[in-house]
Amino acid sequence: GIVNAGMLEVYEEIDPELLKKVEDVLLNKHPNATEELVEFAETLKGVKKRGSGQDKNKWREQPLLERMKYSLVHGIVEFIEEDTKEALDELKVPLHVIEGPLMEGMKVVGNLFGEGKMFLPQVVKSARVMKKAVAWLEPFMEKDVNDESNQGVFVIATVKGDVHDIGKNIVGVVLACNGYKVIDLGVMVNTDVIIKAVKEHKADILGLSGLITPSLDEMITVVKELKRQELDLPVLIGGATTSKAHTAIKIAPHYDNIVNHVSDASLVIEVCSSLLNDKKDEYIADIKTKQEAMRERFGKKDTLKSLLSYDEVQSMAPAIDFEKNTYKPEFLGIKEFNNITLKELLPYFDWSPFFWAWEIKGQYPQILENEKTREQAHKLYEDAKERLDEIINAEAFEVKALTAFWKAYSINNSVFIEDEDGKQLEKFTFLRQQDSNVIKKDTALCLSDFVAPKGTEDYLGAFAVSIHKVQEMADKFEKQNDDYNAIMVKILGDRFAEALAEYMHEKIRKLWGYAASEKLSNRELIQEKYQGIRPAPGYPACPDHTHKEKMWKVMQVEERIGSTLTESMAMEPASSVSGFYFSHPQAQYFNVGMLGEDQINAYAEEAGRSIEDVKKWLAP
Ligand code: SAH
Repeated sequence: GIVNAGMLEVYEEIDPELLKKVEDVLLNKHPNATEELVEFAETLKGVKKRGSGQDKNKWREQPLLERMKYSLVHGIVEFIEEDTKEALDELKVPLHVIEGPLMEGMKVVGNLFGEGKMFLPQVVKSARVMKKAVAWLEPFMEKDVNDESNQGVFVIATVKGDVHDIGKNIVGVVLACNGYKVIDLGVMVNTDVIIKAVKEHKADILGLSGLITPSLDEMITVVKELKRQELDLPVLIGGATTSKAHTAIKIAPHYDNIVNHVSDASLVIEVCSSLLNDKKDEYIADIKTKQEAMRERFGKKDTLKSLLSYDEVQSMAPAIDFEKNTYKPEFLGIKEFNNITLKELLPYFDWSPFFWAWEIKGQYPQILENEKTREQAHKLYEDAKERLDEIINAEAFEVKALTAFWKAYSINNSVFIEDEDGKQLEKFTFLRQQDSNVIKKDTALCLSDFVAPKGTEDYLGAFAVSIHKVQEMADKFEKQNDDYNAIMVKILGDRFAEALAEYMHEKIRKLWGYAASEKLSNRELIQEKYQGIRPAPGYPACPDHTHKEKMWKVMQVEERIGSTLTESMAMEPASSVSGFYFSHPQAQYFNVGMLGEDQINAYAEEAGRSIEDVKKWLAP
């Protein structure tokens, strides 16, 4: 068969009679199949194609309940208020409208999502319809509708020191869609606030979210405190740096009830219902067994055989030829770039992570063609472009970029930077690869290798870029009960920040002179085909978050562009990127990997810090 992919429909939505007749033919079910299909086709003669002209709204002729379901499943906000009014006229009691047609519609959404027949953005759009309806009903109700929850109470928060909430917000929406009462405490939430909310709302489950690695420690603090206060409810862990292993090994041992890692918003409903239904004891026991096994495996790995000694790897540094890299930047010191427009950043967008944020897997642009993702990806992409137009036309976000160049030299694993007069400004100490699993070709890398030793002229750069005002715009949508666009705006804010990092890096390569004639496409930029790197603190090549604190001081980031660091060294606004610029052609991104105690000790000494402090700020 030849399929026009553009005509694909949701399988469940094909008229059952037609579906059966077509399947009979395609699968050769019985000898009369063809005739029956032809006969059936006759009955359709003269019937207009669905989706064309006035027929697009044919569903409006269905009974009220069906119409409301349709709006919810298809995420159509247009008619929901008039339908809700009609439902209220009929059912009289607002709560009955919610528990009746609205919840019934959301149940369909929840089921389709659970079965993988609906994608996350569709669910979030459905939630928007639900919220609109509930908001319309609210003035007619005496108490908060949210007090009625048929599933359970879920308290959710991004932990202290962390500002990221896209994933958390998505989880909140998915839970609310499935009948949970969601108490969202927002970002940077202190342990005591979390505990208070758990008690006050008699939470059934607590969800903790975090993006940057210090949040992992904060999560341990929260569960310890839960235990100390004799609270006993399941805890779910989620966020980019969290993992099944870390949850099992580092967090779960501090708590008696279950601490479970949830890797995807799409899994949270299944996990929650398993934790609250009659068979929950079995489920919890099963997870505990798995976590115990993970801890055992990890315990054995403690004497990591692949780990080389620090002394040994120190002698495995790469041979770097500094004769070849004698460019001098066009300016030294700090420089702000104030006139970058949002529009200029568009060509620097990396769209793949945009789709991942919505839990649609694949690579852009293939994601728009792939049979499984194309329909959803296209819709999402269209919505994004519409929002982007709005954002760009209104210049709704502020673009802030700060960069610096300094004279620099390296001693051992540290890079020293100084001003033009040779006054030392700062010292950055880096880590060297020590695990033979990550060491390639017998060279153990450390970022300091890419800066010339004292005596040879060389430079180091740094940057901090932010997109401001994203939260403000998201808040506006949230006020209109439009989580879909609130989340969309934040995801786009992150994309702008990464695009700005890419844009500035290109500019800097030219100002540094070594890539004056470089002309790379969007694709080549994303594939890092350029000379030099821009490693970010907290990422694999320099997992130490404290570099950010030094960068903030020496570049006057807060004073100049208003971006700040939280106590966990998360950047605020959340849509920010910061890092170093290394120019050497041999400079490359790498993963430091596992570290031995011998290196931690040496690193602490070289950086002039305590061992505890070093461990605290290293990404695990
Ligand atoms: N194109 C992607 C880039 C994501 S990586 C996007 O748009 O999302 C985010 C940042 O991490 C990069 O800008 C770079 O500064 C840094 N980075 C990437 N790999 C790294 C590594 N191995 N070590 C340190 N920093 C890294």
